[in-house]
Amino acid sequence: MNIATYAAHRQDFPAARLRADFPILQRSVRGHPLAYLDNAATTQKPQAVIDSESAYYREINANIHRGVHWLSEQATLAHENARERVREFINARETAEIVFVRGTTEAINLVAQSYGRANLGPGDEILITGLEHHSNIVPWQLLCQQTGAVLKVAEIDDTGTVRMEQFERLLGERTRLVAVAHVSNALGTINPVREMIDLAHARGVPVLVDGAQAVAHTPVDVQALGCDFYAFSGHKLYAPTGIGVLYGRRALLEAMPPWQGGGDMIRTVSFQGSTWNDLPHKFEAGTPHIAGAIGLGAAITYMQQVGVHNVAAYEHELLDYGTQLLTQIPGLRMIGTAQNKAGILSFVVDGLHAHDLGTVLDSQGVAIRAGHHCAMPVMEYFGVPATARASLALYNTREDLDRLAQALHQAVEMFC
Ligand code: PMP
Repeated sequence: MNIATYAAHRQDFPAARLRADFPILQRSVRGHPLAYLDNAATTQKPQAVIDSESAYYREINANIHRGVHWLSEQATLAHENARERVREFINARETAEIVFVRGTTEAINLVAQSYGRANLGPGDEILITGLEHHSNIVPWQLLCQQTGAVLKVAEIDDTGTVRMEQFERLLGERTRLVAVAHVSNALGTINPVREMIDLAHARGVPVLVDGAQAVAHTPVDVQALGCDFYAFSGHKLYAPTGIGVLYGRRALLEAMPPWQGGGDMIRTVSFQGSTWNDLPHKFEAGTPHIAGAIGLGAAITYMQQVGVHNVAAYEHELLDYGTQLLTQIPGLRMIGTAQNKAGILSFVVDGLHAHDLGTVLDSQGVAIRAGHHCAMPVMEYFGVPATARASLALYNTREDLDRLAQALHQAVEMFC
């Protein structure tokens, strides 16, 4: 579905009603109603997610998979039901392809250390882009140090769009893996991941997509995308921290060695050697974040009730509205003006440091982020030490953006 079709949905998007589902949004901060615009860092949690986690601890807390007693059975069912929720949400073929991890960072490290170490050698290349988050850069740098592989980077242009001709050119004889963000957390750019995957696959190269900033904002269908790995974090999707997902195509996961060893990931253990459990358990050593997985399942149910297409359309409209407001502020420069963008407004203001801006906004109850957003190469490209970033979620309203703009006008008057 494209944005024009989304438009049909957005007129009656019930953001104001949905706000009531999020207890924290009822708080006041520094004497003002909270305008929470730091959703790319983490989203707030609806009551349904909070309840699902606490109900687990109140009613069925037990360790999973190994227990023979009733509580363990119930906990296992709830945990595995959450896996099915995830499978359905991203349209994976089977739950064996859904590995629970701590978050996007852990998912990418898992692929680097398991797939990467098994398949890459000296001179082999990993291709990423110039807009990646540190967690889609550093694991590959570590892998390069360990294997002698080489990291290649397809640069961005002044709008924050990946230079596709360069991406295509860098896909070479030695490319063994492509790892790209679906959506940039620092710029909002939506990468043409489908096109990137097709280009890589035409050369037999597997692709990992970092979906940390995508899953809560745009429908994701891993089969339609054709990606080999897809990583995301629960906490950016209205779910608890400490839980995330690595989707991997079965054939790849089957062939990969385990990453961490321990309980649950084995079939047999003896001092002569061990054998591995079936997927996805082969990659889930130790007791997992059971309550977190259950909370993630509840968050996905919540998202599905609201409708991901509706959220995408609504946030796109808010993004347009926010962009119009911000571009009227004297001395403000948007960082990230790609044509295809998700709900991220990154900007700098002449003569004002991003951190000072953040502090002034905070005094008005407007929560944004200031810094390098774990994307130092992006900051370097744009020649700024930091940006201020407002990032949207389904409960944000035009009023939140009005308050952001108002506070920015005040800051500019005060300091410039
Ligand atoms: N990739 C992107 C694009 C992100 O925005 C983030 C979080 N800011 C991550 C990866 C890392 O996610 P986490 O810290 O939840 O592992």
